[in-house]
Amino acid sequence: MPVQVTKICCIGAGYVGGPTCAVIALKCPHIQVTIVDLSQPRIDAWNSEDFELPIYEPGLVDVVKGCRGRNLFFSTDVDKGIKEADLIFVSVNTPTKKSGVGAGYAADLNYVELATRQIASVAESSKIVVEKSTVPCRTAESMRTILEANSKPGCRFDILSNPEFLAEGTAISDLFTPDRVLIGSLQTQEGKDACQSLAEVYSNWVPRERILTVGLWSSELSKLAANAMLAQRISSVNALSAICEATGANIDEVAGAVGFDSRVGPKFLKASVGFGGSCFQKDILNLVYLSESLHLPEVAAYWRQVVDLNEYQKRRFGKRIVDTMFNTITGKRIAVLGFAFKADTGDTRESAAITLIRDFLSERARINVYDPKVPESQIWLDLEEARPDIKLDAIQKQVSICQSAMEACADAEAIVIATEWKEFKEIDWEAVYANMKKPAFVFDGRLLLDAAALTKIGFKVTTIGRPSHI
Ligand code: NAD
Repeated sequence: MPVQVTKICCIGAGYVGGPTCAVIALKCPHIQVTIVDLSQPRIDAWNSEDFELPIYEPGLVDVVKGCRGRNLFFSTDVDKGIKEADLIFVSVNTPTKKSGVGAGYAADLNYVELATRQIASVAESSKIVVEKSTVPCRTAESMRTILEANSKPGCRFDILSNPEFLAEGTAISDLFTPDRVLIGSLQTQEGKDACQSLAEVYSNWVPRERILTVGLWSSELSKLAANAMLAQRISSVNALSAICEATGANIDEVAGAVGFDSRVGPKFLKASVGFGGSCFQKDILNLVYLSESLHLPEVAAYWRQVVDLNEYQKRRFGKRIVDTMFNTITGKRIAVLGFAFKADTGDTRESAAITLIRDFLSERARINVYDPKVPESQIWLDLEEARPDIKLDAIQKQVSICQSAMEACADAEAIVIATEWKEFKEIDWEAVYANMKKPAFVFDGRLLLDAAALTKIGFKVTTIGRPSHI
């Protein structure tokens, strides 16, 4: 029989666990939701009186305001959260392994393993354990082995896979009206019952036909597949953008024409300096590793190319900037607008801005950075990590962090749009132009700005997927 879920615990209060379970709490006032994390500062921020939450997502503050203290709680007491819950989401980080077997490709499942061991050792009653983290295919099997080997008598664990498809920047609307909710379970009676229990939770606001129930391994693989195919679309359009730049074709026109085909569709066909974020690259590398482990080298090579093309696109854009500025940017001031990996998030993981600035540092350029949502401390942390060969105070001599786009652009010779923040469209470009050294260059890595209007003002504009100085 399916159990009626009344208490949920989510292990991991990050970009996924926080918003996902906050929305569950909002939509299901009859369910008590406790989100736990090892990080005291993160939990303090979730509990902060002024709602200075640890992550920025449009609409998130209102969701948390709607239910925190009512049926939504944040805590570092992981054991208590586990003990009380009848359903536990595991939403911990699964980064790419940095060393050892599979380094650079395989997912580091250490956090998943530790969370699973903790569930096994603490639980005093049966639980439904839900993989929310993105994991390699058949991870649920390893979790089951750990749980069964360490559980107390009388405790049984049913494992589900429920990967998260939200996109940062639109997380709340994605969670309110998801394209689909995917739940994978073993095809046993117990597995199907557990699946139904979780489906009941989502059905409080998600239409039944959008809740897909599949086998465990299909569900795990579907998440990797979805991210790989989305990233592949970006790499495909970016590969075409290079051809456009060399031929005089316009990538917007080409993508528009291709996307008009109903078999292709118009979404996710925007050329750019490359994709970033914590997921696309990591999940494709994970798929590459999985393919290699399964002795499918051609399949591995196919997916590897999606990541390689993305790296190429970032490098190519950086090189184009230097080439255009008379082949040297040494001593020149460059304003980098945007540091987050995309608009409407403060997340900087795998951001194109980091790659660009890393390379500008080698060229000994002077760099002004502005991002509306990324804290200054995060920018220094990322740059320090990107350039371990340079001391932070040396980086700080080359880089200034600015409080506005206007401040960043003052006296600059070039402006690089690294993130598609809407506010960059609304800058007073005439005033910016007046304050810049001439010739004044704009490099639009996000196809955000009106290139013709900027050219009319006097800027030398270079955008992705079009010949320079249009
Ligand atoms: P995150 O790093 O923001 O959050 C993970 C949190 O888990 C951290 O706060 C960490 O302190 C906590 N944690 C780790 N081990 C713990 C433990 N044993 N007990 C308690 N807390 C623990 O990561 P994220 O971006 O939320 O991603 C989580 C998972 O979701 C990953 O597998 C990721 O691939 C996947 N995912 C992410 C996104 C996204 O857009 N960020 C989207 C879909 C899926």
